[in-house]
Amino acid sequence: MKRAFKLATIFNIPVEINYSWFIVVGLIIFTLTQGYFPNTDPGLEPIIYWLMAIISASCLFASLLAHELAHSIVAKRNQLPIHGITLFIFGGVAHMSQEPSSPAVEFKMAIAGPAMSFFLALLFFGLDTILASLGVSGPITSMVQYLFIINVFVGLFNLIPGFPLDGGRILRSILWHFYRDVRKATAIASGFGKTFALLLMLFGLLNLFHNNLLSGIWLIFIGFFLQEAADTSYRQVVLKKILSGLRVEQFISKNVITVPANTTLETLVNDYIFNYRHHSFPVIKDDQLLGLVTFHDVKEVSRDKWNTTTVNEIMVPISDSFIINKNLDAMDALTKLVQNGLGRVLVIEQGKLIGILSQKDIMQLFQLRTEIEK
Ligand SMILES: [Zn+2]
Repeated sequence: MKRAFKLATIFNIPVEINYSWFIVVGLIIFTLTQGYFPNTDPGLEPIIYWLMAIISASCLFASLLAHELAHSIVAKRNQLPIHGITLFIFGGVAHMSQEPSSPAVEFKMAIAGPAMSFFLALLFFGLDTILASLGVSGPITSMVQYLFIINVFVGLFNLIPGFPLDGGRILRSILWHFYRDVRKATAIASGFGKTFALLLMLFGLLNLFHNNLLSGIWLIFIGFFLQEAADTSYRQVVLKKILSGLRVEQFISKNVITVPANTTLETLVNDYIFNYRHHSFPVIKDDQLLGLVTFHDVKEVSRDKWNTTTVNEIMVPISDSFIINKNLDAMDALTKLVQNGLGRVLVIEQGKLIGILSQKDIMQLFQLRTEIEK
């Protein structure tokens, strides 16, 4: 399932918004209309508070985007390809297909975001000073002050030394520099990240008990998100380290069960799917690979037609999404596996099927190698 949608392309970088962001925007607007602005500017019409909140949330959105773009531009300057940016809570994620090549690159990349946030804070501070000297006050001043505070907050929050926050990346780059071991550095930095996430959630619970409902929910929400992120990013680093340099060829299953193109669905279900308990099978005619038939496709056809329909009528024809070359790197193969949603890819050599690779194969190999390296 896609959890984000594309918004725009800036500097050749596609910018996506994760759906979770809408919950956050909703919470921000709610907090601003119900608490923050009625406090700074009492006695205004509700519609004014809503307007102030929507404008402020949009500017916050732009500030976060600038923060992420700062990371991405530094990454690009250091030859790190960036596939896109996804905006989450308090920042986002710049998608890199590779980890930074050296501690120095990681350090520069990580610090660029908070530096941008502090720069923006400075701009809003300057604007506030100008407005004050012109004698302007009221809603505009309150919004500018809010944006000053929130950018300082975003900068500081991201500097907390828990991986994968920027501060955690900075910490990792320093540990990496000293230990010369990116896995060890990531383990320590994400340990900090998880501890911090736990503290946030505990603090959030305390807030709930003291009837600070809104800040309680906020803290638990952020803590939960951070905990998840620390976990997955650590697993990814370990996975990458273990799988990198391994060729697909080394661990494909070579005994592939194929289905002839003229097989009926009835036979496919009874003799193949029930028998071998796989969800998909390569379809073959005269030794040539034609495509892939999945259980999902079978279910789309009504049962009374299973006897008259053959697999080549419903199969997915050969496509780049489920075919790989045997010389591919294992990490790239895993990426493809996850992206195509089938959990399997077919390995070919000169148009001929030579094996199959499943997520299970890679995970088993991963487990064995972690056991050995312990
Ligand atoms: Zn950042």
